[in-house]
Amino acid sequence: MKIVEILKKWIKAIFSKPLTILKSIIFNILNKNKNLKRLEICNNCDKKINIKFVGDVCDVCGCILDNKTRIKDEHCDLGKW
Ligand code: SF4
Repeated sequence: MKIVEILKKWIKAIFSKPLTILKSIIFNILNKNKNLKRLEICNNCDKKINIKFVGDVCDVCGCILDNKTRIKDEHCDLGKW
């Protein structure tokens, strides 16, 4: 089931880069650093999936796209941005 795979990726990310995750959530809440260029690339990517009550998520890394794309040092795992 897709959500189980995504949850595993979230747990891994929480342990490997907790500050980045926290920063991305805070940026989203404060609506800071929105990156429309990156979001547009994700919106046209076949790896974008939508999870009910969560929003658009990357099937490759498991990140919530509206959060991930706000972090300057983050990158697309497929090299699209
Ligand atoms: S981060 Fe990369 S692979 Fe994931 S949805 Fe965006 S463009 Fe696609």
